[in-house]
Amino acid sequence: MSIIKLETPLQYLKGVGPRLAAIFAKVGVRTIEDLLYFVPRAYEDRRNLLPIVKVRPNELVVVKGDILRVESQRTRSRFSVLKVYLSDKTATIQAVWFNQPYLTKLFRRGVRLIVSGKVEYSQYDGLLQLQVRDFEIDTGETLPIVPKYHLTEGLYPKKLRAVIASALALGLPLLTDEKIRAALLALHQPKELTVIEPARQYLAYEELFLFQLGILLNRQRYHEELQGKVLAIAESDRAEFQASLSFKYTAAQQRVLEEIVVDLRSGRPMNRLLQGDVGSGKTVIAAEAAYLTVRNGLQAIVLAPTEILANQHYKKMTELLKPLKCRVALLTAATSSEEQRAKVFKADVIVGTHALLEENVRLRELGLVVIDEQHRFGVHQRAALIKKGSAPHTLVMTATPIPRSLALTLYGDLDRSVIDELPPGRTAIKTYYVPESKRSGANDFIRHKISEGRQVFVVCPLVEESSELDLKAAEGEAERLQKQVFPEFQVGLIHGRLKSDEKEAIMKAFLKNKLQLLVSTTVIEVGIDVPNATVMVIEHAERFGLAQLHQLRGRVGRGGHESYCFLIGNPKTEIAKARIKAMLESTDGFKIAEEDLRLRGPGEMLGSRQSGLPDFRVADIIRDEKLLQTARAAARELIEKEPEIARHRWESQGERLKNSQEKLEHTAFN
Ligand code: ADP
Ligand code: MG
Repeated sequence: MSIIKLETPLQYLKGVGPRLAAIFAKVGVRTIEDLLYFVPRAYEDRRNLLPIVKVRPNELVVVKGDILRVESQRTRSRFSVLKVYLSDKTATIQAVWFNQPYLTKLFRRGVRLIVSGKVEYSQYDGLLQLQVRDFEIDTGETLPIVPKYHLTEGLYPKKLRAVIASALALGLPLLTDEKIRAALLALHQPKELTVIEPARQYLAYEELFLFQLGILLNRQRYHEELQGKVLAIAESDRAEFQASLSFKYTAAQQRVLEEIVVDLRSGRPMNRLLQGDVGSGKTVIAAEAAYLTVRNGLQAIVLAPTEILANQHYKKMTELLKPLKCRVALLTAATSSEEQRAKVFKADVIVGTHALLEENVRLRELGLVVIDEQHRFGVHQRAALIKKGSAPHTLVMTATPIPRSLALTLYGDLDRSVIDELPPGRTAIKTYYVPESKRSGANDFIRHKISEGRQVFVVCPLVEESSELDLKAAEGEAERLQKQVFPEFQVGLIHGRLKSDEKEAIMKAFLKNKLQLLVSTTVIEVGIDVPNATVMVIEHAERFGLAQLHQLRGRVGRGGHESYCFLIGNPKTEIAKARIKAMLESTDGFKIAEEDLRLRGPGEMLGSRQSGLPDFRVADIIRDEKLLQTARAAARELIEKEPEIARHRWESQGERLKNSQEKLEHTAFN
């Protein structure tokens, strides 16, 4: 007899052959343990099956009935509708499925079905219709509450339940933790609806706790192993820098700088994420940190995601640091030459794009790396950077207000500073939704603002990255505005296809108000600073993500003038409408990001490719944010009080999460 373990492949279960195992593998289920943790996504309460005669419109119902008749129709637009007449002793109802023609094979007269879904009046014949969300062929099982799992083709509910039942029978006794056993049993075979959520939370907590344990242990190791440069921070240097500014720091800026100074002095490499809404004053913080680094005889580099932004940072850094006798250099792909690289070697502060990471760029002694908008840098670029200096201090700046739950998961091993306050005198940007019918009114408003001396951004969406179509759309819009709408003003066009000196020239013209309107594709998305521009027009606003809309809006409201954002378009889907609504209701980047996360889910929000998000089995980082925080605190406490136990738990139980953790190590700049 073979010994069953948790990691035993599920083929060893009775009734699971290679074919079924392959299907399970597609949904990530390979072992008996995976199966135990393959938790239901929903439940159906079979204790109150509704007699069909009692079915009412606009309700979610579960009914059981025998198939009387099956009709399948195909519309002109290749849309298919399957109608099944179900009858119990009390009445008959139409159940409908859309676009699942293959189901006809299963549905024969006399077959008994249990279906759940929403009841509505049919648009065609006015009869009551049940739009099916979920169905099963009744097999006479008498479960009170039926778990619903994620199904893929070939994985049928009854079979799945049987396989899970045998996994529970064999696998549960192998689990040493009694509470986990009870929770898993409650999730797969609940006797009452009320036991489900507490069980789910228990398991989610366990998972999050382990995950945080891994992250924090990792961070501890990083701190212990890597020798950071100890910087001497003189108060006089700080005072000198701050005296050179034309403003006083906000309280938030002061607090963040204190946090940074502690890191720089600590002897451990700083590993800090600086979050702050657009215009909250991150750049000047980076400049002070760079200055303090330079005063220690070390070099600081500032990395920007695009050429335009590198140029802008270069100007800003020069403006801030040259009066303090720092040598500031720029290095981008466009400016990289033998001569320029020699300058870089000598400079104190170097601003650049990823061209700075090339092998042939030599630095003297790197003390600080500032990365602007880190999410645009890939794993390899980060690794290359580490190679350039032995554990430099790192400050990652982002205006993408990653919600707390996500930050704790993704950047759990970065310390985090938040600027949650804008410099004084900024007024909230007034945001309006402009339907096509009100466009001319908006144009009148724009005309008025330009005649007052202000300037305007008009953003057209990318249809597809760098496609001809986008260019056409933006070009067309620029031409239309110039010829038909604002012939009295100068309209410029900037897009990703232009060479960097061409872009530069256009930005310069806009900055000098030689152009009053600037039409662009999303190249201006991050960072561009034109304080005199006070109106942001976003065309086809429904095509942008929420975070992106917010970033774009942040391009205005950067000077003393009242600023406006017009969202033009025709949102059709619920999500698109919700995004516009969120924009109208809030200008707080963090609130908007929370909403974005809620609407899109974390994977999509970050771009799933390199999101590095862990694949939790039970936990849901949006829903379980509170649990995540408790779990993190508990993990931290265990590491402090019982480091051996903490390490042992991670080593023995963290196996499954190690994969995600490795991904994280890259994203999190270890
Ligand atoms: P971010 O990089 O966070 O978008 P910046 O550092 O570019 O913001 O700051 C936006 C503008 O606000 C800049 O013109 C900057 O000089 C100015 N600024 C920064 N901090 C303050 C402050 N405390 N008071 C007034 N103006 C400030
Ligand atoms: Mg900035």
